[in-house]
Amino acid sequence: MARLANKIALITGAGSGIGQSAAVLFAREGATVVVNDLTGPKGEETVRMIAEAGGEAICVPADVTDPEQVEALVAAVKSKYGRIDVLFNNAGISGVGMLHEIEPEAWDRVMRVNIRGVFMPSKYVLPVMMEQRSGSIINMSSCIAEIGLAKRASYSATKGAVLALTKSMQVDYAPYNIRVNALLPGTILTPFVEKYLAESYDDPEAAYASLKTRQLSGDLGRPSDVAQAALFLASDESKFMMGSPLYIDGGVVFGKYA
Ligand code: NAD
Repeated sequence: MARLANKIALITGAGSGIGQSAAVLFAREGATVVVNDLTGPKGEETVRMIAEAGGEAICVPADVTDPEQVEALVAAVKSKYGRIDVLFNNAGISGVGMLHEIEPEAWDRVMRVNIRGVFMPSKYVLPVMMEQRSGSIINMSSCIAEIGLAKRASYSATKGAVLALTKSMQVDYAPYNIRVNALLPGTILTPFVEKYLAESYDDPEAAYASLKTRQLSGDLGRPSDVAQAALFLASDESKFMMGSPLYIDGGVVFGKYA
């Protein structure tokens, strides 16, 4: 029996990295996947990968920070499938720099995508889940919500906010049989991290090597490592997990490496 059989799953930012990996995995496990990303071509590539593997998916581009676009996205899914079982709030952007170096516009952009981009899809999907009295929402936080990391002030603030939001959402929506949990990945090798390395360090190769030393696992994570954790939270196997942070970090948070 497929682990997500008959479920309709909406994944934001699913045209790349972790979201794309989760979309392909969810479809392989029987879900019909709604692939969202900012632009059509990125999402369409994920849909093509799913179709090639014999799965079901559609692409609905939308900016997750824009209420009109998100409302239209959710309405389109509701009218096509009649329900939404899983919302994976995955879309996010990086933010680098020490606090005094960050331009106000750059600060606002990271807050907008990483926090408002969780608020907005949740706001429109929750009434659908409340009506059906079931659902699983997975919010993308990061292990940076729990540890200090250099030059990541704006980004860490957003991921801490997402973790706190997850817990409050869980309390409010538990009476509707809706579960809300958070993923806390460590460093996962995706285009997002490659961009961060290129933008933040003079020697990205050396930075990559040094990133590996701050965890126990010896190598960075891969998108599929996080996708597997998302699959568990999306499925009924995690029915007793409510408001929980799930770490997929190669031992960054709980490991002692010095
Ligand atoms: P990625 O850049 O590969 O993918 C993110 C996707 O989100 C992109 O396709 C992008 O177009 C999309 N997106 C950005 N803004 C959007 C918007 N306004 N509306 C819709 N889509 C939008 O990144 P990734 O590494 O796969 O990261 C995915 C999530 O995981 C992010 O929230 C990130 O903060 C989080 N995360 C990543 C890591 C890591 O090491 N890669 C670690 C912890 C948490």
